[in-house]
Amino acid sequence: MNVDTLSLSEVLRDSKIDEGLLAIAGKVQNKERITEEEGLLLFEKGELGFLGALANHIADRLHHGKVYFNRNFHIEPTNVCVFTCNFCSYSRLYKQRDDGWELTMEQMMDMVRKYDGQPITEVHIVGGVHPKMNLEFFCELIRNIRTHRPDLHIKGFTAVELDYMIRKAKLSIADGLIRLKEAGLQSLPGGGAEIFHPDVREVICADKVDAEGWLNIHELAHGLGMHTNATMLYGHIEKYEHRIDHMSRLRQSQDKTGGYNCFIPLKFRNKDNDMSNIPESTIIEDLRLYAISRIFMDNFRNLKAYWPMLGRQTAQLTLSFGVNDLDGTIDDTTKIYSMAGSEEQTPALSTEQLCDMIEAVGRIPVERDTLYNELKVYKTEVAHLH
Ligand code: SF4
Repeated sequence: MNVDTLSLSEVLRDSKIDEGLLAIAGKVQNKERITEEEGLLLFEKGELGFLGALANHIADRLHHGKVYFNRNFHIEPTNVCVFTCNFCSYSRLYKQRDDGWELTMEQMMDMVRKYDGQPITEVHIVGGVHPKMNLEFFCELIRNIRTHRPDLHIKGFTAVELDYMIRKAKLSIADGLIRLKEAGLQSLPGGGAEIFHPDVREVICADKVDAEGWLNIHELAHGLGMHTNATMLYGHIEKYEHRIDHMSRLRQSQDKTGGYNCFIPLKFRNKDNDMSNIPESTIIEDLRLYAISRIFMDNFRNLKAYWPMLGRQTAQLTLSFGVNDLDGTIDDTTKIYSMAGSEEQTPALSTEQLCDMIEAVGRIPVERDTLYNELKVYKTEVAHLH
């Protein structure tokens, strides 16, 4: 599946384009940052072809047609959770834990051992916030993985999980992060950010860590030399200005620390949750959002489309709208989005399938590690590169 977008020079020559939008295109050409007001204008008036032209231009300037993926698997220790986010299709309260799962140390280590001898580079650990799985338990898990397989990069625990487990251990956030780092934790994923603005957060996830807490945890982790990701859950009750507010806070945070590896917009899926009455965003809205993220988040080098959530075809389309990363092979080890209604009920892609998806839209597949070091360039010449 391929989408031909306009080039930036074609956009700049188009006399029918709104003046404000043309000024933004000029800024993109001159590598200048756009303002929050301009970001809002893109949401309000930017048509898909226009946004794609700008986003593609930036992505090609940064990555020269390369699209990254990694070889990873997930461990989801539990879906039992003390919180009750209304958009969540995945969690079960402690009193309903018989409907959920709580993996033992041995079960999790069996998952790690399953990949012995395979060229996997990363384990991604996230789950519900279980009242009884504490900081010590997770430090032990990390130490066990590290001992069993020292070459595996351990990325784990959203700021929501960390905030709870560290506060429960009666440590400062900094000291808790140091404990986890000493055990062998190397990076943090970007989950739990949802929408930072309190007007939205209050409605969709009132009881978990707020925007300031989330950003503080990430900035402290950066200060300890760990890299992290950032997400935004979009397409529910939030308005365009909430998206811009969210992206702006992340942009400022990245200006301070430079510690974010990538930005990952996550599409709200509406199956089996307390917000099922809200229709999901259209593919056009998804693509516009990716493109605007690429244009607005000028200090985030990498923009990821998480294919188990979008479905592989839409994820492939995003590659023409500024995305340069498709996450990993995953090997059917996550349930978060299949339980929320994603088309991907058993998400797993072989390296060959991922490469085919990327090459089919004229891009170069590159395997990376967690920190975006290039491990293997799968093809150096692709039929038609922008
Ligand atoms: S989104 Fe995360 S914190 Fe919220 S209920 Fe679900 S598992 Fe718990």
